[in-house]
Formats: sequence, C-alpha cells, structure tokens
Amino acid sequence: MQVTGTTRVLGIIGSPIAHSLSPLMQNAALAELGLDFVYVPFAVAPDQLDLAVSGLRTLGVTGFNVTIPHKETILPLLDEITPQAMRMGAVNTVQRVGDRLVGHNTDGAGLLAALAADLDFTVAGKRVLILGAGGAARAAVMALLDAGAAAVTIANRDLARGEALMGMAVKQGGAGIMVAPLAILASAELGGYDLLLNATSVGMNGTTFVDFCPELLNDTACVYDMVYAPLETPLLRSARQAGRRTANGLGMLAAQGERAFVLWTGCQPPPGVMRTVLLTRLAG
Ligand code: NAP
Repeated sequence: MQVTGTTRVLGIIGSPIAHSLSPLMQNAALAELGLDFVYVPFAVAPDQLDLAVSGLRTLGVTGFNVTIPHKETILPLLDEITPQAMRMGAVNTVQRVGDRLVGHNTDGAGLLAALAADLDFTVAGKRVLILGAGGAARAAVMALLDAGAAAVTIANRDLARGEALMGMAVKQGGAGIMVAPLAILASAELGGYDLLLNATSVGMNGTTFVDFCPELLNDTACVYDMVYAPLETPLLRSARQAGRRTANGLGMLAAQGERAFVLWTGCQPPPGVMRTVLLTRLAG
C-alpha cells in the first residue's frame, strides 16, 4: 500500500483507540484489493467529538467507524441516520455521501451474520437470553427482534438498565421481551433458551460469571460471546466443556467491518481476509 496524493482516507474515532483492531483488518482488505485508500485511527476525547466530526467533514474523509464512547453522542452531529441505526440509538459507521455524513449501524447485521456463519444459528422463531444492557446489547436486541426472535430476555447486573432497554424495545414495537436478574444463569429457566448471548464486557481479562451453570442449558443451545480477547472466554470454555456449541465475537467484529467496507468502497472485501488477520493477531 502506497499513500499518494489521490489516496482516500478512512478511519475510526474513539477513546481509547490504540487497542482497536479495525485498522489492521480494514487495511488488510484494502491492500488485498489494491484500493487507493488508507484507514487510520483517530483518538478523540468525548469533549472533542464535535470538533473532530467537523474536521473529518472538512478534510473530506470518505468514511469512518465510531467506537466507545461516541456511538450514541455522534447522532446529532450527522446529517442523516439510517432507520436501523436510529432504532439502535447508535452509529458505528459513517459514510460520506456527497457533502452529507450518513450514520449507519452494522453491528446488528454483523452479529446475525456471525451467528449464522459460526454457529449455523438462524434467529427466526428462537428464544434468546442476552446478558447486558449497554450499547452492544441494545444493537443486539433490535437486530434479534428484527430477525424474528420469538422471545428475548435481557439479564443485566443493573436491573433498572435492563428494564430501560426493554422499555425502549417495546416502544419500538418489539414483542416477547422480558428482563431477568443475572441469577438466571444458575436457574432451571436457562434451559428455556436456544441461544445465550453475552453482550457485557465480562470475559475480557479472563473475568467470568461465577454463577453460570452450563449444564442447565438445553442440550441443543448455543453460546455466543461478543468478547473476542481472549479468544475463548471462561463463559465459552465452560459451555464448550459442557458440550454446547460456542463462538466468540471475532466473527461479529469482522462481519460489521465487512459491511462498513462495502459502504465506503462499493467493493466486497475478499472473503475471510478480515477474519484471518484478526485471528492471526489474537492467536499470536
Ligand atoms: P457498555 O455500553 O459499557 O456496557 C457494558 C455492559 O457490561 C453493561 O451491561 C454492564 O452492566 C456489563 N458489565 C460490565 N462489567 C460487569 C460485571 N463485572 N458483571 C456483570 N456485568 C458487567 O459496553 P458495550 O459497548 O455494550 O460493549 C459490551 C461488550 O461487547 C464489550 O466487551 C465490547 O468489546 C463487546 N462488543 C463486541 C463487538 C464485536 O464486534 N464483537 C461489538 C460491540 C461490542 P451494568 O449495566 O450493570 O453496568
């Protein structure tokens, strides 16, 4: 890849940003296709978001990803938000269209694609227990409901936050939504779900849900963890050891990135390239 006077700029804004794997996977796909783009990380503090978005607009960047803590606060700074991103209340991808900045959310579609690819799991008609009520959980709840999940239960440490997410989803027409305490992980009710989905940050640095009893899961249930570092979280390890199908969040990370890539370049990224570079980095 050689940066020239015609090279177009893509990037990611967040704080912190040094840990982001998006530059690695996006640049790998751009290089593989020989596209004249470069993808760079931009550290943007919360009180500098307004200035940063104006700067990116002025500099004419083709598009950028948005990560913690800007996914929600960026909405009023954009010219247009897709209905899906509006429902999720969060933007993870911005695309320049002419002079306008359009906000998308590719996290939900990325999750559904990863569930299908990694677990052969189709959401329609299924019962899902989701752990968490933050931004990732919200995108997941909306995507699961849009994809026809029969029931979605939100279990969060802070129950009031879980109830608030349920209220938001119900307001947007979602049905079959409930909340539960995290203690559900040690209760017979766990057997009533087809998918257990972790959308909390538990699992990073080896942290775990101490009360999780994987034997209580239905024999055919799957477990998906949005966390991808470590590649096998304690939640996934115990579920796998109990004989359940499991997958980590690496597939979702790659799939949401692939969708952003298409929006910016108009090209399909080479299949598997993003996933492979992520896996190589994380396994190493
Ligand atoms: P967030 O908005 O900060 O929400 C964090 C969630 O984790 C909250 O539900 C919080 O519960 C819960 N939590 C944190 N520590 C906990 C603990 N010790 N015990 C129980 N619950 C705990 O973060 P987010 O944006 O939703 O992201 C959540 C995770 O998803 C992160 O690990 C992120 O890396 C991952 N993620 C992965 C992808 C992917 O592509 N694979 C995409 C998006 C996010 P309380 O409400 O009780 O505090």
